[in-house]
Amino acid sequence: MENLETEKFDYVVIGAGCAGLASAQYAARGGLSVLVLDVAGAGGQVLQISELENYPGVFPAVDGATYMMTMQKQAEAFGAKVIQAQVLSIDKTGGSFMIKTKKAAYEATCLCLATGAIHRNLEVPGEKEFSGRGVSYCATCDGPFFRNKKIVVVGGGDSACSEAIYLSTLSSDVSIIHRRNKFRAQQAVIDKMLAAGVKPVYDSVVKEIKGGAKVESVIVENVKTGEQTELTTDAVFIFTGMLPQTDLVDMLPKDPAGYILTDENMETSVPGLFAAGDVRSKPFRQVVTAVSDGAIAAHIASERIRNA
Ligand code: NAP
Repeated sequence: MENLETEKFDYVVIGAGCAGLASAQYAARGGLSVLVLDVAGAGGQVLQISELENYPGVFPAVDGATYMMTMQKQAEAFGAKVIQAQVLSIDKTGGSFMIKTKKAAYEATCLCLATGAIHRNLEVPGEKEFSGRGVSYCATCDGPFFRNKKIVVVGGGDSACSEAIYLSTLSSDVSIIHRRNKFRAQQAVIDKMLAAGVKPVYDSVVKEIKGGAKVESVIVENVKTGEQTELTTDAVFIFTGMLPQTDLVDMLPKDPAGYILTDENMETSVPGLFAAGDVRSKPFRQVVTAVSDGAIAAHIASERIRNA
């Protein structure tokens, strides 16, 4: 870990999801030397999208993996370097940032955090025990295992409703359990989900996931009446929101939900340190807004470096 040789870049991006790769592409095309680091390699959350159907200009829909592979190729074609490595620390020394991974150290004039968010657990008995045995957080990955089986989806946002639509293509028995009587998702997504025959269970929460070798049922409680019922199911897909990945930048100002605050240039309270995509505090988290964040951050960083 000690005596690491330091490689210098104009712009380092942490996170190779759609915000990070878009930022890398714009920065590299603008003439900056660019490095992207991601612990899991390129892709991010978009890899879990079965059909990316709302990105303007991408029609008919493509799957998330195909889209991200193209995005990586495009960023690399403009000269960005994408490396799979876990960033251990970030420090600002003088006018530049020092980024350390286990095997290398990098210096950057500007740095962009595009670390995204990960799924939030439901935190009920049975969730951990049955993870991978019927409990899942990724419909694209695990949905095909439950073709023509009973499926329960938990949540009421865009993720839950979009994934319920996808799961309804695999099974005619998909229920969605939401804690309120109104979904949070975009209306078009709700309409499509209900038209696909997904059965809503409103005002209800999952209290426990039960089974033997694998999931067999969920205990559902009506939050208004307190009544509990047992619903048989083969799978429980949980989409109850996201947790921003901000461990590397504890000191940065964040909103009450923990997302990083930036100005309209995507710049954080630290000059030259940008945040883009789902890790940033903003009203609308979409591929299109993540890509836009990344492009703006790269543009401002390029101007900063050119005028330095
Ligand atoms: P989200 O919008 O935060 O929705 C989380 C859902 O889970 C909410 O309906 C919430 O209920 C429910 N929930 C939270 N904690 C719960 C608990 N402990 N028990 C039961 N239910 C719980 O999260 P998301 O759906 O993952 O979306 C994240 C972001 O990505 C959003 O900005 C979304 O618009 C975006 N996104 C967009 C698309 C698309 O455009 N196709 C697809 C996926 C995600 P309440 O409603 O009562 O709070």
